Amino acid sequence: LMELTKKLLEIQTILKTVKPSESADDNGDETRHSSALQLPSIVVIGSQSSGKSSVLEAIVGQEFLPKGSNMVTRRPIELTLINTPESTEEYGEFPQLGLGRIDDFRHIQRTLHDLNMAVPETECVSDKPIELRIYSPHVPDLRLVDLPGYIQVVNRKQPPVLRQKIRDLCEGYLKQPNIILAVCAADVDLANSEALKASRRNDPMGTRTIGVITKVDMAEPDMAVHMLTQNDYPLHLGYIGVVCKPVKEKAGRTSHEILLSESQYFGRHAEFQQPGLQVGVGTLRRKLVRVLEESMRRSLSSLVDAVRSELEETRYQIKVQYNDERVSPESYMAESLDSLKQRFKAFQQQFGKPQLRAEVQRWLESRVMDVCAELYWSNPAIGELSNHVTRSRAAGWLADIRTKSAQVATTAANIVSELLAADTAKEQKGPQLNKVSAGEPTARQSSSVSGGKGKGGNNGQAASEWSDEDDAYWDHQLDRASALLTKSGVGRWTTQMVVDLLMNNVTSMIDAEPFVHHPETREMVLSFSQAILRSKYHSTVDQVENTIKPFKYEVEVEQHEWAKAQKRSGALIENEIRLCRQALTKLRSSTPKKQLQQAMQFVAMADKRGLDPIAVQVELARRNAEHSTTSPEQPPKPETSAAEPATQTSAQSTSGNGESDNDALDDIHYAQYSPRLLRRAQQVLMIQDRLSILHLRRKALSSSTCGAVENKRFCPEIFLDVVAEKLAYNAVMFINFELLQDFFFQFPRELDSNLYYGKSAQQIRDFASQNPRIGKQLVLLERRMRLELVMSRLQDLVRQQVATETGGHGR
Ligand code: GDP
Repeated sequence: LMELTKKLLEIQTILKTVKPSESADDNGDETRHSSALQLPSIVVIGSQSSGKSSVLEAIVGQEFLPKGSNMVTRRPIELTLINTPESTEEYGEFPQLGLGRIDDFRHIQRTLHDLNMAVPETECVSDKPIELRIYSPHVPDLRLVDLPGYIQVVNRKQPPVLRQKIRDLCEGYLKQPNIILAVCAADVDLANSEALKASRRNDPMGTRTIGVITKVDMAEPDMAVHMLTQNDYPLHLGYIGVVCKPVKEKAGRTSHEILLSESQYFGRHAEFQQPGLQVGVGTLRRKLVRVLEESMRRSLSSLVDAVRSELEETRYQIKVQYNDERVSPESYMAESLDSLKQRFKAFQQQFGKPQLRAEVQRWLESRVMDVCAELYWSNPAIGELSNHVTRSRAAGWLADIRTKSAQVATTAANIVSELLAADTAKEQKGPQLNKVSAGEPTARQSSSVSGGKGKGGNNGQAASEWSDEDDAYWDHQLDRASALLTKSGVGRWTTQMVVDLLMNNVTSMIDAEPFVHHPETREMVLSFSQAILRSKYHSTVDQVENTIKPFKYEVEVEQHEWAKAQKRSGALIENEIRLCRQALTKLRSSTPKKQLQQAMQFVAMADKRGLDPIAVQVELARRNAEHSTTSPEQPPKPETSAAEPATQTSAQSTSGNGESDNDALDDIHYAQYSPRLLRRAQQVLMIQDRLSILHLRRKALSSSTCGAVENKRFCPEIFLDVVAEKLAYNAVMFINFELLQDFFFQFPRELDSNLYYGKSAQQIRDFASQNPRIGKQLVLLERRMRLELVMSRLQDLVRQQVATETGGHGR
């Protein structure tokens, strides 16, 4: 025989692993296929206690179903029986659980019990089927579905909807092409059989329903025969009577009781000898096998069609969505790693020693700018230093700068944020104030040109000659500056900078496709990169500190080095100027021009008195409130009347409280400025001052005096740049050797050992599936592979079938 059922059951096992296509997915129905891909099963229905389980166990020849009065079947059990004629072993398998084979049928029973009881009592039934396969030489190839029994009476614990729930669940299984096994007990009137009612709803012609009358021994034989032959509920496939329990019966006329097997029972009663009557489990089995096989045969061509169309659809999707690309989890993983290695290589190639040096130097130069801002640009004597070099006169506005320059001890890059908190000690360089020279007589001239701002020029400061004392002061300042640069932990900062740079690069490498889909991989790469760098960090820092040690005490500068640094520092100042201008533009663009100007005047007046403009504002508002109740508003005073030697008031008061404020505030006109506006005005003024100083320095640095290394005390920016260059050169030698080369060497190896070696097929698959596009593609490819396998097997079956049919005709 061609064993059609067996082969189709094998095919069904493969089909079960074919994931539903996208469209089926949308319905949220993952467990069942479109019915076209379904093969017929025998669905067993019946009321509770009708003997359903006993019949199933009799068919299998094993006791394996859970017993009990309290709804023990809560999920459908999809039972596949596989005949294994060449073996003597009998065992079961739960493919969903992956437990492997189970030889002990009591164990199977317990497992089924647990799986059923896992459905909470409040839900009572679940439509998630339990799959069970039983392999045995004693079972026929069959596919049966055991369903929860219909209940007549709902007990107290069960919700009233339960009856309907069970009905709905069964109804789903009673559709074409399934065969219905309607189990009715002989001691219950067929008219009351829930099973027959359900069967009639779904199979009104009775063409695919087999009636099973159980407990035949419970009825009088002639009554039983009547049930089996009745025509009130005609079924095309007829009724079969069974006895699934040994029957106690009196032996002859004695009062002895003997136990009769089913066949003995039927043999004993002549009523059952009637021709055409179907009785016995054996008959039932043979009938099931035949009916299922026929049903399978009828379903074959529609199954072939369904598989073909699924296959075509899958192929189409692969073509349209993925252009027939081939991919496997392994190839995807290898490519992903490759792309990362390639990116790393590209980075390695464009980040050698020269680039490292450029980065370190750039970083050190920003430190140079900080040091210059701190020790020079905010030094009230900076004008003097600059003018001495350019041999020009101090511009009148320089006096203004002097009063505030101490507040500008920050680089332009940070200016906007840092100015908010800028209250660097104002008195720090107090004595130097008097030393600042107004320069040549023309200074006064230019001060008058600059109008109201020219107070400093009229301040009567005498021009003084450059002295040895000045030289000493600026030499000392230069030493301090150099020390600030060399002794500030260059090793730690430069190493950290390079570490950050490498980590940033690694991060940007893995923040791109395809690693955005692989968060764990991303973390892993980051963590081993960190580990490599961490292991080298301290030794690198120490090496760098060692190598730059000599520069902490003395820096020798050659003229050619100086000349290069002169150019570079010019560019650095230029950059600072650019940043200042950007900050100014930003500040101005966010405030109406007129408001800003008025606020700036107000701030300038407060500044001259050394007062905090916001505190002044608060004080004035208070006074204004007092005045307005007694006298009309004061006429506005001309701005110039606010002019007064700044030193007087600032000497008297440093904050906006106390008696002495009265004098200082009397001539400032009150107007309402928001604190935000005032802060903005302050910032604009400070940046303007900074710009003035930077312009001054630019001029000084490009002068011929600054062209010569001997004059370094006048040109700290250039000198510090030379120092930065030397530090960078030496630091990089060691950072490159200790850290960078090592990192470049280890990174690809770590990548391989962490991500590639020792991965299981499942891990590689999981990795690939994290990428949604690849995951979907893999599902589709696998689906196609399985469907192709099913298709080729089906085609074999069809060919065989045709051969047997034509062979049969030939005979
Ligand atoms: P289910 O609830 O429909 O699965 O019914 P069971 O198979 O558990 O059977 C219910 C009861 O009927 C049990 O006590 C069985 O022992 C009993 N029973 C089953 N088959 C027969 C039979 O052929 N004859 C007799 N007398 N009792 C049976």
